[in-house]
Amino acid sequence: MSQLSNPLLQNHELPPFDQIQAHHIVPAIEAILEDNQKMVASILKANKFTYAELAQPLEEIGDRLSKAWSPVNHMNSVVSNDELREAVNTCLPKISEYETALGQNQDLYQAFEALANSDEFNTLSVAQKKSINNSLRDFRLFGVALDDDKKSQFAKLSKQLSEITSQFGDQVMDATDAWSYLITDATELAGLPDSALSLAKQAAESKGEGKEGYLLTLDAPSYIPVMVHCENQSLRKQLSLAMTTRASDKGPQAGQFDNSLLMLQILSLRKSLAQLLSFPNFAEQSLATKMADTPEQVIDFLTDLATQSKAAAQSEFAELEAFAAEHYDVDSLEPWDVAFYAEKQKKAAFDISDEQLRAYFPAPVVISGMFQVANKLFGIEVKQIFDMPTWHEDVTTYAIYKDNKMIARFYLDLYARSKKRGGAWMDDCRVRRQLPDGSLQLPVAYLVCNFPGPIGDAPALLSHNDLQTLFHEFGHGLHHMLTRVDCAAVSGINGVAWDAVELPSQFLENWCWQRESLALISSHHKSGESLPAELLNKMLAARNFQSAMTMARQLEFALFDMRLHMEFSDDEESQVQRILDEVRAQVCVTPVSPENRFQLAFTHIFGSPVGYGAGYYSYKWAEVLSADAFSLFEEEGIFNAATGEKFLSTILANGGSQEAMDLFVAFRGREPSVDALLKQDGIAA
Ligand code: ZN
Repeated sequence: MSQLSNPLLQNHELPPFDQIQAHHIVPAIEAILEDNQKMVASILKANKFTYAELAQPLEEIGDRLSKAWSPVNHMNSVVSNDELREAVNTCLPKISEYETALGQNQDLYQAFEALANSDEFNTLSVAQKKSINNSLRDFRLFGVALDDDKKSQFAKLSKQLSEITSQFGDQVMDATDAWSYLITDATELAGLPDSALSLAKQAAESKGEGKEGYLLTLDAPSYIPVMVHCENQSLRKQLSLAMTTRASDKGPQAGQFDNSLLMLQILSLRKSLAQLLSFPNFAEQSLATKMADTPEQVIDFLTDLATQSKAAAQSEFAELEAFAAEHYDVDSLEPWDVAFYAEKQKKAAFDISDEQLRAYFPAPVVISGMFQVANKLFGIEVKQIFDMPTWHEDVTTYAIYKDNKMIARFYLDLYARSKKRGGAWMDDCRVRRQLPDGSLQLPVAYLVCNFPGPIGDAPALLSHNDLQTLFHEFGHGLHHMLTRVDCAAVSGINGVAWDAVELPSQFLENWCWQRESLALISSHHKSGESLPAELLNKMLAARNFQSAMTMARQLEFALFDMRLHMEFSDDEESQVQRILDEVRAQVCVTPVSPENRFQLAFTHIFGSPVGYGAGYYSYKWAEVLSADAFSLFEEEGIFNAATGEKFLSTILANGGSQEAMDLFVAFRGREPSVDALLKQDGIAA
């Protein structure tokens, strides 16, 4: 295939999603990797290790690869099919091999050392210096200091890890897609809200090949309403078991997509790789690039939060049990009863339900309100634009303006559909950087959610939880798009310590809870009335409902992840379940089915070579940062433009160009404390 006819080999300002096809992928990526390797060789041959002749051309070739790979990888997540997946899986080991070779290139490492030790280094910008120091650190993490034998072993294990983690994620997706349950008798679905019923009916027609009835699946918009609202306990049990045994040796698909062995291989490979680099375990390696210093510090941090919130979590669960016994004559709660009775208890206590609130949050209102919030805080204008090619008709596109100048663009893909990976995320499509000709490449982001879509002509109605998810991803997006850094490696979200990356996202969620901002983001889909004060007061009262139980659950995941990567040994067969059981004994206050194998679908920590591995604690760590940052707005006014500008110019604008702790201190005037979070969650007075 000629270069000319392959859209992935052409230079596009934005990815040509309307042209990219599966057969373009492998030849394009192979050609780019080959070009890049030649370029590296010629940089080294020239032997001039200045910023302009070493760092800049390397940034250029890295960006070329990322501009081709990012849309491809993205399409595989949002409009996947067998051909795409196969092409992506063919490229993954090639890219991993290329990156490992680059990261292990002794000559390149020495070239960067020469630049770091040159007189020129002191004349570089803060961002340029940081990017060079990060490169040196990453070279060492790539095993550049290893002897040849160990180096090739390192490369081999890295490649295996990349393939196995990708298989892990694929099996979770396959297991999720493979399970569905058709119901023909609507009485079995008593309690389910109309929106969920319509969705199940639609699913039966489309996925079930025109079948009559209601099709339930393990996608969140189908699964969650059943667990929360459906009166039918045996149906809840059936779905819960299908969900929590996905990709395991238990449950309805036992053994079909079993990730057990892959998980052990991932743990073993990570440990071997860490040890090749002279770290005792993967947890130590993971923290080498993070804001937290040691695994022990993280365990102490999590244990401190667990200790401060356990009693509150226990009493919340005891209240739930008492409620179920008193009003429903239920003696003991099963795992599939917790969300169901919690919803009833919440309704009884606060006379408020997720469904009631949904009516006030039509997606178009929420989106434009969210843009107004960003306008008030950061002085930016967000406008819908119509000239960006996309991957699906549901996707809308926007440009961000500051002082009447376009500074960024993004895609918004809100609704769940089949062949789209679950969950919500923001990803980098284009990074802000200065091009060789001196012009500026503007950042572009993907914002992806999985909300229930519109039914018929009515707008999609978001739950308040969806609202927070959307603000969360938009917060990530703003971090990526409002950067003022021109050096790709530390621009936007690039180079930000993993445990600080959730600061802007969790920070922005706070505006889903404020009277003044809710006036902008709510409007009843029929009456147009914004969220009434009465409902808002109830919502605020309900905000911390079971917050200690939620805290306990997140601490369970975080402690499990950190301990697993600290303690894993190839000699003990049943250690994963043992560690999980120990952590549960320490923090978990709700019942767990003995069949539960959630860890085998824990793609956060096992779905990519590093991902959130030994890093799940980052959510809590960043929550502490975000609660503490927001407390300054509570002191100075939630739309205080000067405080907004300060957040923008310290944390958002600087991205990864400075240490996360320094940026936090520059904004807050001191180091972070857990007090604001415990207060925000209603756990501490
Ligand atoms: Zn996030």
